[in-house]
Amino acid sequence: MHLKGTLYIISAPSGAGKTSLVRQLLSRDAQVRVSVSHTTRAMRPGEANGVDYNFVPLAEFNDMIDQGQFLEFAEVFDNKYGTSQTWVQQQLDQGIDVILEIDWQGAQQVRRLMPEAVSVFILPPSREALRQRLTGRGQDDASVIERRMADAVNEMSHYAEYDYLVINDVFEQALAELQAVLVARRLRQSAQQQRQQALITALLSA
Ligand code: GDP
Ligand code: ADP
Ligand code: 5GP
Repeated sequence: MHLKGTLYIISAPSGAGKTSLVRQLLSRDAQVRVSVSHTTRAMRPGEANGVDYNFVPLAEFNDMIDQGQFLEFAEVFDNKYGTSQTWVQQQLDQGIDVILEIDWQGAQQVRRLMPEAVSVFILPPSREALRQRLTGRGQDDASVIERRMADAVNEMSHYAEYDYLVINDVFEQALAELQAVLVARRLRQSAQQQRQQALITALLSA
């Protein structure tokens, strides 16, 4: 599959800050959009259907699997999550960069289908910080937090499969590092050659 836009995969253990980082990135970068996943998990207070996720019943999710509507899907914390194939492809075809906030299982599926995808793993500065963030977010009860802490090690053990590694200690610094990845990808010679064709031709003409 030829991509005009760049596809970014961002993974992190729950609570590491990927949603906050991506939200800030989107507000500063008009060339990139985030894919809104489908999920069977319950809506948290403050979440909106179609904004944070498309919240669907399990039966509907399974129908979407059968119809081949997902680019990837995976089971995470006993819920199912999946990425819409059509939406992502439409954006990329228009030359728009797309971010997928997905787990390591989904990342492996996407890499197989789209080896050009650029992947970033976000780590918390410590286990204590991760627990504090999960607790401080105030949206999951104690048992859910323990489950997510336990699964965090499994998620983090996949860090080496990613192209870039960002530690989310000081938020602004992590955000700048994530932005740097996007900027660097846009400045690659092959991409710039297409974008700056007129300038390059003019500069090189005798
Ligand atoms: P949060 O990450 O703590 O905000 O919790 P969520 O319930 O929103 O997400 C839980 C996990 O599901 C995270 O590790 C996400 O990366 C992952 N996830 C979310 N959407 C998708 C998706 O469309 N596909 C896959 N494979 N994983 C997803
Ligand atoms: P994720 O999407 O990875 O589960 P969130 O973006 O929801 O993580 O962040 C989890 C919590 O940690 C949120 O309450 C957020 O405000 C907080 N947080 C994110 N980044 C930082 C940071 N660098 N320092 C302190 N708190 C942070
Ligand atoms: P929100 O979910 O409202 O985007 O962000 C909530 C928390 O994430 C903030 O309390 C802060 O910890 C972190 N955060 C989000 N955006 C920023 C930002 O622009 N700068 C800083 N320093 N922290 C931010």
